Amino acid sequence: MEKLKRILQRIDGKGYKAYKDIQGSYIGNGFHLHIDYVQGDPFASPSRIRFVAHSLKHPFKSKWFEKPWRKIALEDFLTRQLGEGIRKRQKGKTGKSGTGKSGLISIDEPGQEVIMRTAVIAKTNEVEVRLSIGLPAVGRRILGKQAEVLLCHEVPEIVLAVIHHIQWKKLEEHITTADRQQAIRDYLKREKCICFVANGSILPRESGVSNRPLDRKKAISFQSPSSFERSIPLPDGTTVTGMVIPEGVTLIVGGGYHGKSTLLQAIERGVYNHLPGDGREYVITEETACKIRAEDGRRIEKVNISPFISNLPFGKDTDRFSTEDASGSTSEAANIMEALEMGSRSLLIDEDTSATNFLIRDARMQMLVSKDKEPIMPFIDRVRELYENHGVSSIIVLGGSGDYFDVADRVIMMDEYKPKDVTEEARSITKALNSRRQIEGTDSFTTKMNRKPVPISYESATGRKEKISAKGLSTILVGHSQIDLSSVEQLTDPSQTRAIAEMIRLLFRQYFQNGICLKEGIDRLYERIAKDGLDVISPYYGQHPGDYALPRPFEVAAAINRMRTLKIN
Ligand code: ADP
Ligand code: MG
Repeated sequence: MEKLKRILQRIDGKGYKAYKDIQGSYIGNGFHLHIDYVQGDPFASPSRIRFVAHSLKHPFKSKWFEKPWRKIALEDFLTRQLGEGIRKRQKGKTGKSGTGKSGLISIDEPGQEVIMRTAVIAKTNEVEVRLSIGLPAVGRRILGKQAEVLLCHEVPEIVLAVIHHIQWKKLEEHITTADRQQAIRDYLKREKCICFVANGSILPRESGVSNRPLDRKKAISFQSPSSFERSIPLPDGTTVTGMVIPEGVTLIVGGGYHGKSTLLQAIERGVYNHLPGDGREYVITEETACKIRAEDGRRIEKVNISPFISNLPFGKDTDRFSTEDASGSTSEAANIMEALEMGSRSLLIDEDTSATNFLIRDARMQMLVSKDKEPIMPFIDRVRELYENHGVSSIIVLGGSGDYFDVADRVIMMDEYKPKDVTEEARSITKALNSRRQIEGTDSFTTKMNRKPVPISYESATGRKEKISAKGLSTILVGHSQIDLSSVEQLTDPSQTRAIAEMIRLLFRQYFQNGICLKEGIDRLYERIAKDGLDVISPYYGQHPGDYALPRPFEVAAAINRMRTLKIN
């Protein structure tokens, strides 16, 4: 660190470019500091450093590294603690420390989900912390003294304070929660169930733009109907009790504003683990579940939507259907087929975000508009076969059509935020009141697609000068065009979007060669990540890789499928 101090003294007062001299690695007492990237000016994206604390006085338990979810929980915990440490420290500061981002220290903090990230890498005896730093300046003049305080004192003090004073009880709880979540996931798989919602869960969120729980005093906590209730044994000897939804076709009905969508949203997010205190930490959904919605305007490239749509006007092909501007129903059909292509075993559908004509065609409409005039095969006539012949379950939120009673295995009614089992009532109604519908889909269909992304799709987007980057949660810029992910609802963290941008680059450059299918290419990349860590997606492997969180393969595919330049063979 003495060397770093000397350089900083030498460049003090010089132009900002002289900061480039501090790039390199330095040795401190119990730590290494790597300055990997130095920003070009005080307003540019911040400098990237790695702080490695080694020879820990209290090493982490080796059993925390035996299972991937435990290591993720451990690193997630450290990231949150470091974020808090930084905030506390910054709050204590008075005044501004210079121009632009001068004095900034930040770490890529997680939201409510606990997912694999690149912010912290832990080993039993070592923690590597990846930080962003604003090197201090006034105007464009280097503030060497402040930089010294920042790099040689503040950063080490903040990081070491967290690492040397771990709140062990809280950390244990974080990891135990992950163990329990995994046990519930294993149970669902073993028992052929889609999801679990624990009694006492808090499902509603603070607001429509927040992921944080609604104040417990205002929320009605979840209580399973007794017929769906099960107790799941947990590895720590305790059990957790709540509602289990088995495979098959499940309806969630109920009056408007009674909590249907809130329940489905919690189920959508259950593909991720949540942190203790989130209210949904024991809402667990099998990890291939995909929210399906209408998304008119999206692009579709050679997707077989023929199970749902055929005989379009002007004889447009629906086996390999392409459009620059999909309609509500064609987009919803494509969203289903693309999810199935990636191996989804359950579809989550909410009438709020569905095309009505995709979900249902009732008896009167069937009488007026004959089948040969209607290209759409409504979902109601496919949902059983999807389950029985393809093993794909559905959970459908529906307040508007009782015709679905005919095809449901079970019906849950939300009544003032409380779920009730109304399956029997729905059955009797079906007997008493025939829907008079003609069943339209009697033919079998295939869900297999062998879509092979063509590498040139990416080149033509970016040109010779490669450029791909994420902007917030729902946009990826590829060359001159953009990928709109605002309808990809299970994407939850902007760091996932950043990761997807890198993954697209890698996939088209290295994985989609020699006619590899979309799913196969993505699977191979995930195998590599499982083996070598999320750092591998970064062009700066071995340095500060950037701030990434692991998306699901479904969201990666969703982004590729929405590329405006995508070509499929
Ligand atoms: P629906 O889809 O049945 O029309 P929503 O799920 O959109 O209803 O819920 C309506 C409102 O009720 C939302 O503002 C939601 O946050 C709130 N809400 C949902 N569940 C609960 C609950 N368990 N306790 C308190 N408020 C809830
Ligand atoms: Mg709703």
